[in-house]
Amino acid sequence: MTIKDIEKYYRTNKESAEKIKSIIHKYAEKIRKERKIEKIKIMNFCGTHEWTTVHFGIRTLMPPQVELIAGPGCPVCITPSIYIEESIKLALDGVTVYVFGDAYKLPAVRRIKGANSLFEAKSIGGKVKVVYSFLDAIEDAKKNKEESVFLGIGFETTAPSYSIPIEKNIVPENLKFISTLRLTPPAAEYAIQIAQKMGLTPIQGIIAPGHVSAVIGAKPWTILSKKYGIPSVVSGFEPIDLLLSIALILRMIYRGKAETLIEYKRVVSWEGNIHAQKSMRNVFEVIDAGWRGIGMIPSSGLRLKEKYKKIDAVEDYNLAIREEKDGKDLPPGCLCAHITLGLAKPTDCPLFMKACKPSKPYGPCMVSSEGTCAIWARFGGGGLVEDIAKSIGLEV
Ligand code: SF4
Repeated sequence: MTIKDIEKYYRTNKESAEKIKSIIHKYAEKIRKERKIEKIKIMNFCGTHEWTTVHFGIRTLMPPQVELIAGPGCPVCITPSIYIEESIKLALDGVTVYVFGDAYKLPAVRRIKGANSLFEAKSIGGKVKVVYSFLDAIEDAKKNKEESVFLGIGFETTAPSYSIPIEKNIVPENLKFISTLRLTPPAAEYAIQIAQKMGLTPIQGIIAPGHVSAVIGAKPWTILSKKYGIPSVVSGFEPIDLLLSIALILRMIYRGKAETLIEYKRVVSWEGNIHAQKSMRNVFEVIDAGWRGIGMIPSSGLRLKEKYKKIDAVEDYNLAIREEKDGKDLPPGCLCAHITLGLAKPTDCPLFMKACKPSKPYGPCMVSSEGTCAIWARFGGGGLVEDIAKSIGLEV
């Protein structure tokens, strides 16, 4: 069996999907009757899991008491506005800014010389280049020898693709690096704490990100079970992966057990990719970091270590990168922070599909293919037709 065949099985096997669905319903009913829990809230941390949930209508398969909520797992959505603003300034001052395509239209909260995204900066003469990888930026910068910076957005999945070239010393002198890297387990903890503080239905299970865990391993997620008594399952990205992960979480809730399990065994191990982790540790150090609209989350970011300061654009260009301590870096009316913390749905935002659409994003969650608002806008919020219709003023 090839990897393609395996993924196809996890995507299209209706018989298995039906079986797992009935297990989910069975456990939800047992939990309601025997454990007297009326509502079960499960967070899928990762933007790609939200994509699968919505694209394949997973929410419509859930029993009424199981609520699937989206989490903070979209790196573009949570990158503080100040990084975009400073990158726009550099681009307009003639420094080439390399950026991934999904952050190209990411709106800043303050306009810089009329531009509020790198896309707009380019349209008024700024130097911006969209690249697929840090290595592409390295190659291009070597050729053109222009003063340039790379905007290093991402989670643990992307971090080794930055740290390895930096460690190998293949970054040319004319290319500097801005680290906006963020770490995922501290953000999951934060979302759990916020729901608790606000007295809301607590998050009772976490579907942990598969790609991130391929790097960091499943081990770091044990903090959720040990410290908060919350089961977590590292999941793959096909619909059957998600159904299996939900079934495993419900089984743990029913049995009163909180553990960390791996559903995505075809990719993720307990320890993760040791070499990638070593490289990340060699190049970066952990810091308290700002998440857009949310504010500071302890130990949730990575910055270059002292020995790599010579390639740090923040030092070199004296960038005014201050972490947004109060999280006031969303445009007025945007509920993106509530959505990334699982406190609201895109359709709760009065601007959804009105002032804010994928073709003209107003807030950060409408930009990337991993942004919850962008996913709901494209695929309809997991079959919640009434919600979408209401948000555009239709009676159903
Ligand atoms: Fe923000 Fe747009 Fe989402 Fe509303 S629809 S929360 S404005 S990104």
